[in-house]
Amino acid sequence: MQTTRVELSDTLPLTCSRRGTCCFGNQVLLNPWELACLAAEKGISPRQFRDSFCDFGGTCLMFNGDMGWMGKKACGMYVHNFGCSLHVARPLACRLYPIGRQIQSAQVHYMYEGRQFPCLSGCPEVTSLPHITVSDYLQGQQTLSFEQAQDGYLEVAQNLADMAFVLLLETDLAATAGSQTIALWLEMGGEDPQLLAERIGEEWLTLLQLPSMGASLNNPMEFVQAHNTLLQQKAQQQFGELQSISDVQSACVHTMALALHLSRAVGANPATLASHWAEVARGNGV
Ligand code: SF4
Ligand code: SF4
Repeated sequence: MQTTRVELSDTLPLTCSRRGTCCFGNQVLLNPWELACLAAEKGISPRQFRDSFCDFGGTCLMFNGDMGWMGKKACGMYVHNFGCSLHVARPLACRLYPIGRQIQSAQVHYMYEGRQFPCLSGCPEVTSLPHITVSDYLQGQQTLSFEQAQDGYLEVAQNLADMAFVLLLETDLAATAGSQTIALWLEMGGEDPQLLAERIGEEWLTLLQLPSMGASLNNPMEFVQAHNTLLQQKAQQQFGELQSISDVQSACVHTMALALHLSRAVGANPATLASHWAEVARGNGV
């Protein structure tokens, strides 16, 4: 997809006209901390929020509201003639829009989709509103803690993938069924998100998207770290003493499924990641 990179010092028509067009027909991904924040703001449990308002095991918001702009359906949180009903807890994707964020070689980049500034198609009046710098826009949207949570969860996903690598490379699995295991990683990378969620199963989906650990929502990094510990402990408990190669392979594939599922929730492309991790495995002689 064509993107246009922007620098923090660039001045753009980033004053929202509040017409709400971007709350129709879009995709809003959620990491587990964002899901918990939205649920708290709504006054329901994360599980109730996931079951009522999210798709794909809690990784993205449902867009099942009333039909509106260009015949597209509104986000489930959108209220006609009002706007976002959970504005205070809106996730990073909504805070950033129309800007997107990417990490390449540990560097953060901001960009927007396409060559034309995205707001212009739905809200052309933004050009007559004050133009501000990308940096001021991010500050105004209070993205910092949300960006930290996003980056933290990217690391949690990498930790899960590392666990899959240990199961592959530090056991007899690489020699006995290495190629077959990598083929399964690649298959899961291209799998429909709902199928991947079903493959993971409710017990692990709950651990992954609805962690229960008493961490405060006010400190996203503490929340992410506690979640990482919870996942590592559960994996150790469940995969610590595997008896057969077939058990090791199941654990390895399952752990990679968790990594891919969480990666999608933080905006990474699971197919690209699965290919990358397959290449790394091959580079290690599998
Ligand atoms: S499309 Fe742009 S200007 Fe219009 S509501 Fe969304 S962010 Fe605001
Ligand atoms: S969460 Fe709020 S801001 Fe984001 S798409 Fe839904 S209604 Fe719009």
